[in-house]
Amino acid sequence: MRLDNLQTGAMMEILCNERDGRIWATAITLIISLGAPYREVLTDLPARDSAFAALPVFRRGLFCFLSTFCEAEPLHGPASPLEENPMNRDEKIRLSLPSKGRMGEAALELLADCGLRVRKTNPRRYAASIPTLPGLSVLFQRPADIVVGVRDGSVDFGVTGMDLVAERRGANGSVLVVHDDLGFGCCRLALAVPEGWRDVETTADLASHAHALDRPLRVATKFPNLTGEFLRDHDVGSYDLVEAEGALEVAPTIGYADVICDLVSSGQTLRDNRLRPLEDGVVMRSRAVLIANRAALRTRPKALEVARLMLEYIEAHARAEEHLAVFANMRGESPEAIAARMFEQETLGGLQGPTISPVVGRDGEGWFAVHIVVRRKALFDAVAELRAIGGSGVVVSPVAYIFEEEPDRWRAMMERLDGGTDDENGVGR
Ligand code: AMP
Repeated sequence: MRLDNLQTGAMMEILCNERDGRIWATAITLIISLGAPYREVLTDLPARDSAFAALPVFRRGLFCFLSTFCEAEPLHGPASPLEENPMNRDEKIRLSLPSKGRMGEAALELLADCGLRVRKTNPRRYAASIPTLPGLSVLFQRPADIVVGVRDGSVDFGVTGMDLVAERRGANGSVLVVHDDLGFGCCRLALAVPEGWRDVETTADLASHAHALDRPLRVATKFPNLTGEFLRDHDVGSYDLVEAEGALEVAPTIGYADVICDLVSSGQTLRDNRLRPLEDGVVMRSRAVLIANRAALRTRPKALEVARLMLEYIEAHARAEEHLAVFANMRGESPEAIAARMFEQETLGGLQGPTISPVVGRDGEGWFAVHIVVRRKALFDAVAELRAIGGSGVVVSPVAYIFEEEPDRWRAMMERLDGGTDDENGVGR
């Protein structure tokens, strides 16, 4: 048996917070006997505010002791024959998140907001866990590599841009989009030309310009498949795709391309580099998505369970974000009479209907507390309508989750799971 990430994390908490020597001795014995990745435990400790971290000499001593008595094991790679055996692949579900940048931060923020906080035991390591989803390992990769990992099945789930999914998913249907809009990473893949090309405003203008050149039009891009397809569809004539990494916007200035096809969000980078997007040059609109390996979902019940839990949390949180809980006091003869008044209003119907209960008041009977969930956008209408029918003492609070019977995206995913064909907007593939 070997301690997994979660157990190792728990062990670390014990070591960090515990000052009782007997507990220490037990934790160390466990580390040794169960073969925990003790190096991770120890390398994490200095960052912690703990009595242990304050004793570097003792920590070094302990490290030497463990290094001597524990079987040397690599930090990465298979930890035991159990994990090496592909038959045991079901033991561990892997989710890959963007390793850095805006996407990386937004993915961690979304997961935390949804109650799926990622716990990085060591900021230097490219692995983590989500305590809400035991048995899931989190890895950090470049967004482009995430698509490849999910496609090949080396990871089961990934959060990345739809643009990269469309570019790199391949034709074998192994990448399934589980959630098609995580609410961040919105951008468009667009063709942009130098500002000085005054007569080139549309793709038709670009085609004329390209036809007049005595050489192919050079287009710098990180998306050769999507860009090539777009240029062919728009009959731009002969072109060369210049595949490049990093900031493409400098390509026309430096001279290694005539135009670019890249991701645009605010458009500021294009303007800074004296480039202008074509009016009809949007190759695709993109946003962050959750993808999964189709075979993993089909053959590994644990992967399906993780998909369900992630969708439950993400969907319930997204729904909750759009709503607020409203409480008010109201006079009335009975709950039914008050409900009848509320149903006559536009915004007071609640999800199913209002919850109405008697208030035990000091000034006699006839008061009821009403509780409804209203759409955030309709809050002020709801307050006005409550007042109009005798509501007072209106209290409004945020909602953490709204769980429906079954998440819509779960149902949609299950319907698509056994298919494998592409659809027009790329979601069902
Ligand atoms: P902006 O100046 O806001 O239009 O951002 C453009 C720069 O940010 C370009 O270098 C893009 O490659 C990059 N970028 C913008 N949006 C995204 C996104 N959603 N995912 C990855 N890169 C992006």
